[in-house]
Amino acid sequence: MAEIVLEGVTKRFPDGSVAVKDVDLDIADGEFVILVGPSGCGKSTTLNMIAGLEDITEGTLRIGGRVVNDLAPKERDVAMVFQSYALYPHMSVRENMGFPLRLAKVDKATIAGKVEEAARVLDLSEFLDRKPAHLSGGQRQRVAMGRAIVRDPEAFLMDEPLSNLDAKLRVQMRTQISRLQRRLGTTTVYVTHDQTEAMTLGDRVVVMRQGLVQQIGAPAHLYDLPRNLFVAGFIGSPAMNFVGAVLEAGVLRSPLGDLLLDDRTRRALERRNAPRDVIVGLRPEAFEDAALAREPGGPVLTVTVDVLESLGSDVYVHFGAEGGPVTTTELEELATDSGLRDTGAGAAQQIVARLDAATRARE
Ligand code: ADP
Repeated sequence: MAEIVLEGVTKRFPDGSVAVKDVDLDIADGEFVILVGPSGCGKSTTLNMIAGLEDITEGTLRIGGRVVNDLAPKERDVAMVFQSYALYPHMSVRENMGFPLRLAKVDKATIAGKVEEAARVLDLSEFLDRKPAHLSGGQRQRVAMGRAIVRDPEAFLMDEPLSNLDAKLRVQMRTQISRLQRRLGTTTVYVTHDQTEAMTLGDRVVVMRQGLVQQIGAPAHLYDLPRNLFVAGFIGSPAMNFVGAVLEAGVLRSPLGDLLLDDRTRRALERRNAPRDVIVGLRPEAFEDAALAREPGGPVLTVTVDVLESLGSDVYVHFGAEGGPVTTTELEELATDSGLRDTGAGAAQQIVARLDAATRARE
């Protein structure tokens, strides 16, 4: 059993700054949990406290049922994978991967067997005698993973392990890590500032800001029911649009027009006793072309296109609204048909959009 439990964990540095405040987190055995948030929010410090690389100022940390606050890193039986990979340049892949086992005085034959098994899993068998300098970035990253795997630890702790890779390799490695974690079933805590990694990799995501946990939940839960504006704005890509609105008799009057609420949203607002003035969060994917709408009815908005960005698969349509621009990805046909693609950024034209769903968010 290797659940990881944090109770009221706080980190105060000697200069008095508090990097992590009163974090409660219950990670189940075998679970893949992502810590996500902007730079400086306390993700790495939290991971380092679990690893034993930073002291815990207040609170309790349990790994596999044992309180480990005062245990040295090597006594915690966790394996860390760093952003820098931290490979030894003078050692071969084989030696790098076997190094933690050599330190633990495991016999040579066992080390050789474990290294070869890990190399097979990670597709590194043919590189075992190479030095890190003669490997690609992705291969180095896999060696770092292999060094963690050979120890068969209670948990993997990964600190931005993909951030040194180019975009394409990052996507490949993301799926490989996901597959590997499912295959090994080892409890994993993974730090990233990339919300796509957070949404795709984890069983659950912990969103942090300024040392405080904002929300913990499955990716789809955070997407559908963000607890506050920060989570709403952080999860999802491209980012959520926020529009100020006034709630009147079940209708949200906004600068975009009147937004009719779906039943779930209306009930949630009633339950929360929402005030008249609210901030509405609109996912870019929540707009529909009026001409192609699946269901007639609902609020139809007339907007002026500001800027059009074509990404090949998606077209981002930015249109003006009081209080800032709104972005949607859902008006591709309209953009094509109206010739906006040809006129490019800066073109202004009337388009009509039907609002599909409103996701509310209020601090
Ligand atoms: P993240 O991993 O989310 O980018 P960190 O956990 O690295 O954030 O840092 C959280 C906060 O703690 C930051 O404000 C950072 O400047 C501060 N911090 C990190 N290490 C130290 C340290 N050794 N002494 C003082 N402050 C630190």
